[in-house]
Amino acid sequence: MDDQRAVAVWRDGAAVRLPADQPVVTAFDAGLARGDGVFESVLVAGGATPRLGDHLVRLQRSTRLLDLPPVPDEAWRALVAAATEGWPDGVEGVCRLFLTRGEGAAPTALALLAPVGEDVLRQRRDGVRVVALTYGLAAGVRAGAPWLLGGAKTLSYAVNMAAQRHAHAVGADDVVFTSAEGQLLEGPTSTVVWAAGGTLHTPPADLGILAGTTQARLFAAAEADGWPTAVTPGTVADLHSADAVWLLSGIRGAAAVTSLDGVERGDAGLTARVQELLSRP
Ligand code: PLP
Repeated sequence: MDDQRAVAVWRDGAAVRLPADQPVVTAFDAGLARGDGVFESVLVAGGATPRLGDHLVRLQRSTRLLDLPPVPDEAWRALVAAATEGWPDGVEGVCRLFLTRGEGAAPTALALLAPVGEDVLRQRRDGVRVVALTYGLAAGVRAGAPWLLGGAKTLSYAVNMAAQRHAHAVGADDVVFTSAEGQLLEGPTSTVVWAAGGTLHTPPADLGILAGTTQARLFAAAEADGWPTAVTPGTVADLHSADAVWLLSGIRGAAAVTSLDGVERGDAGLTARVQELLSRP
């Protein structure tokens, strides 16, 4: 099978496209040794990246939170353009932007592009089985502790990936994290949204969770469509009693939660409406 993947790296003030199997980063890069860096995952659809602007806003915020040397939006846009050049319109891709502390004073900025995985497409279509797992921190801790990097999308995702592996080991697809006292937080790679009482709800970002670009887009489109939205602290019990629950992210879109901690649940026919709202320009 052809290798559809692509890589572009920032070198000497320009975006340079390289073959996907070429080495691009020194083994001494702090991103590799310590996960010391930030990233974004941007959907490529119809050969374009219509949500890139939202992701760049968050990438710049993550960059500031980690005191990384700033990379201007124009450089990121040039990297995305170099990576996506020639990408087929009919193939959905995930373009990952990475900024690491690099080696010495030189940060590393690069863009990787690969097709969206079959499992992601399946979960968008068929939904996800979810387990609730504790994140182990009290809900208010991260807001008052900037060194915990709440709200930054860092490369330190080993815990998030371990939680997903745990979910797979117990027969689920994904996870909803809760605080030590049982407050809803987020998924390892997604924002939690639920419908209850005729309103769409999501937990507050000041819990130190990532402010989701997909959730923000959904809530804006829902409000414009007359569907009220609210930022609401919640618990797993609220998800059990909700009309519908989704995990939202830029690549997967809205994946309906079809079972929670082994209890089957429906979506009251609302997933199609949510997905239609997300498809609006
Ligand atoms: N929360 C976490 C921890 C994530 O990794 C992601 C996805 O990147 C999200 C939420 C959802 O963010 P977005 O909708 O901007 O993709």
